Amino acid sequence: MYSTAPIDSTGPDYTNAVARVLTTLTATALLTQLQAIELRFGRTRPYRNAPRTLDLDLLLFGDETINLPELTVPHPRMHERAFVLRPLADLAPDLVLPQGPILDLLAACSDQPIQRLASR
Ligand code: ATP
Ligand code: CA
Ligand code: CA
Repeated sequence: MYSTAPIDSTGPDYTNAVARVLTTLTATALLTQLQAIELRFGRTRPYRNAPRTLDLDLLLFGDETINLPELTVPHPRMHERAFVLRPLADLAPDLVLPQGPILDLLAACSDQPIQRLASR
């Protein structure tokens, strides 16, 4: 888990993590489930980039490209966010995104401060 200051917003620092899961759900059904979990944690969307209790984004779904009104995969902003790339690189250092190898993309985000929290 990593700690970062909010980008384009205010409020306390965020804790960031990436998980790899196996699922039998379709991508849209998985997104629906992620949003249901967000709701259980009190998520509201008062305005764009508002501070939030929990934000669960679907970054990748195998090697699929998805362009639906409610779901874009790979996540369209993940390649420019250290708080995504750093924990994802822990899981998959050899991953290549449409924009390039993950470690190269992470190096390009070196201006975004990110702090690794002690592992438990
Ligand atoms: P960002 O997408 O820049 O990280 P955000 O997570 O704050 O912003 P939300 O308000 O949580 O944005 O989500 C807005 C909408 O984005 C959701 O209702 C969802 O339908 C849509 N969406 C599109 N692609 C994805 C994706 N890959 N993962 C999660 N939500 C997505
Ligand atoms: Ca997000
Ligand atoms: Ca989200």
